[in-house]
Amino acid sequence: MTLRDRYSRVIDYMRISVTDRCNLRCIYCMPDGHRPLKFKKILTYEEIIRIVRIGAELGLRKIRLTGGEPLARKNVQYLIKQIKAIPGIEDLSMTTNGVLLERYAEELRSAGLDRINVSLDSLQPDRYREITQGGELKNILKGIEKAYLIGLRPLKINAVVVRGINDDEIESFAGITIEKPFHVRFIEFMPGKTNAWSAEKCIPIQEIKERIINSFKSLEPVRLRSNGPARYFRIPGARGILGFISPVTNHFCSECNRLRITADGRVRPCLFSRTEIDLKSAMRSGATDEELKRLLILSVEAKPEGHRIGKDGERSYISKAMSQIGG
Ligand code: SAM
Ligand code: SF4
Repeated sequence: MTLRDRYSRVIDYMRISVTDRCNLRCIYCMPDGHRPLKFKKILTYEEIIRIVRIGAELGLRKIRLTGGEPLARKNVQYLIKQIKAIPGIEDLSMTTNGVLLERYAEELRSAGLDRINVSLDSLQPDRYREITQGGELKNILKGIEKAYLIGLRPLKINAVVVRGINDDEIESFAGITIEKPFHVRFIEFMPGKTNAWSAEKCIPIQEIKERIINSFKSLEPVRLRSNGPARYFRIPGARGILGFISPVTNHFCSECNRLRITADGRVRPCLFSRTEIDLKSAMRSGATDEELKRLLILSVEAKPEGHRIGKDGERSYISKAMSQIGG
């Protein structure tokens, strides 16, 4: 079966925020004073597994676990194992801050995780600590090496570039790919629930790309089988590749193939819309599989054609904490 929305986009990808808790507090992500949800307000593993099973029957093929910090939730390996066993699921990945990656990489791999994205916004220990409000860079770097070594590939590093905070590191991030076979991806800073965003601080991907071309002379386009929202390039001769993701300046809405499940169990058809459909309450009041299927189909039908972030300037923003939606 194939899930198609009103604009003929095939929806086969679900991102699930498995917890809104996090062991870091990145300045652009976690609103000040943000209090995590009580445990009973977030989906249980069994509820998540049920949603994925029903989604897979409808046509979902790819699942990404995110958060908050997915490795901060106890025994996420169990969830991975169960999701991996669901017929139809072809690709299971995770987005993590990497704090606990060195410790858990092997267990994640044996549970069935296919690949991993690590968020990393500075290669300078002091600055990394400031951006994340307490993170230790060396732990993340060890986690990245370990994950790659044991086969969580392609290993993707995601950097959010914020003017005046880490934009002087664009060239250093790009330089990683010369020696390392990683995918280093630059992401535009999006307006969320923190007060950190302003139009000036958001550096357009085009500017990031031009700076890399200035430093490394040229970039060759790279075609990947499944691109997602990133556009890929290579510094000539480099082992790794560079990805550019521009949610603010150049929407990829026409190619959007995803649904999101928030930590409190709602389907969010679009990161930027306020529409959500409450699966958790439905499940907890006895909804049948058929009823849940209808809610998932409804959320696909509710997918907007596109969003207006970047067009409405500072007035539009993502209406919930990123840690609850999963980024
Ligand atoms: N804790 C995990 C991590 O940091 O990778 C997973 C959750 S985090 C919310 C998912 C992604 O959202 C991260 O790559 C993070 O950099 C990104 N993110 C959070 N706030 C953002 C913002 N305002 N603009 C762009 N990306 C953001
Ligand atoms: Fe935590 Fe990830 Fe948000 Fe940073 S970006 S505060 S690591 S959820």
